[in-house]
Amino acid sequence: MAKEDFYKILGVKRDAKPEEIKKAYRRLARKYHPDVNPGDKSAEDRFKQMSEAFDILSDPKKRSVYDRFGQYSDNLANAAAGGTGPAYTRGAPFDFSGFDWGATSTSAGAGSSSSFRDIFADLFSGGKAEREAPRPQPQKGADIEMPLSLTFEEAITGLTTSITVNRSDQCSRCHGAGDTGGSVITCPTCKGSGQVQRAGGRLRFTQECTDCGGTGKRRPPCSVCKGKGTLAKTENVKVRIPAGVDTGSRVRISAKGEGGRLGAPPGDLFIITNVGRHQYFTRKGDNIYVTVPITVPEAALGAKIEVPTVTGKAQLRIAPGTQSGQKFRLRRRGAPSLRDPNTHGDQFVEVQVVLPKVISEETKELLRKYGQMNTENPRVAMGLE
Ligand SMILES: [Zn+2]
Ligand SMILES: [Zn+2]
Repeated sequence: MAKEDFYKILGVKRDAKPEEIKKAYRRLARKYHPDVNPGDKSAEDRFKQMSEAFDILSDPKKRSVYDRFGQYSDNLANAAAGGTGPAYTRGAPFDFSGFDWGATSTSAGAGSSSSFRDIFADLFSGGKAEREAPRPQPQKGADIEMPLSLTFEEAITGLTTSITVNRSDQCSRCHGAGDTGGSVITCPTCKGSGQVQRAGGRLRFTQECTDCGGTGKRRPPCSVCKGKGTLAKTENVKVRIPAGVDTGSRVRISAKGEGGRLGAPPGDLFIITNVGRHQYFTRKGDNIYVTVPITVPEAALGAKIEVPTVTGKAQLRIAPGTQSGQKFRLRRRGAPSLRDPNTHGDQFVEVQVVLPKVISEETKELLRKYGQMNTENPRVAMGLE
């Protein structure tokens, strides 16, 4: 097997995060897994390559060895860790001997890492049963993701609203089966071959026909859903956004995704929130930041002032001799925590001393007097006079 760059094989950048690597692998595994491409040697080779790449890149230790040497072997890992093994030996190829392509996920793990196993567990659970009895299986509907813009205040208080979702529902005529009985005919989708061609980039793949479960035969398609088992619909969905969401929060609305097949439950709807800016509050996590102006006498003599918080006004005590830029913390006056609505972040108040507009002759006279009484030079530490 020609050694291609592991990052290229998975189609990820060299600085890809572990989550991106996992995602890329999942996507490719769905496409190239031998169960989906029975008898396709090139898909199987490709699958082996990407599995080897994933095995190395998903393990931080192995990945760092690979990044350093451009290949991975236990000897190289040993050498990199300061061991006494030979500094360079040709890496043993990834061992597939313990990997049974037709097996279910539970036995697929012999010699594979656990993350490798996990992926198969949810990708192809029950794969063997499906191959032995190829007929359409109940299938949970896909999830839907939708963005939702909220104002800063709505993110703090939470919001109940209704949004329009283009989703699908199980066909009420055939209950998602795709047919309503009748005598068996040749599957019109695959013309009886049980397989369909699918394009993936420059390559074409053969895949089991999902309409007949690979048997090539089926009952006549349901006249309402044309055999899909689901019907497209536009639905107004009521969504409750909890208090404390931030930009990028995922709010799950159960069972409002795409309809399921053969009586399987629908997928979920995920609302991805996008929170707007506020005129004077900014937010980092559950903490809120605000800058509040104070007067010269308040700063010099101390004062008790009112400051805004996201949950209403609060009192803040300014100590005598407070400087501009000084920060005060108001505990638990920040945004509510998404995890526990009874806890809040903190609010940080930065005070900014503002000068009055000096108009009256009397005030000017007072300030001159003040200057004469307080002659210390604040720039003396800079060597200035
Ligand atoms: Zn078919
Ligand atoms: Zn139908």
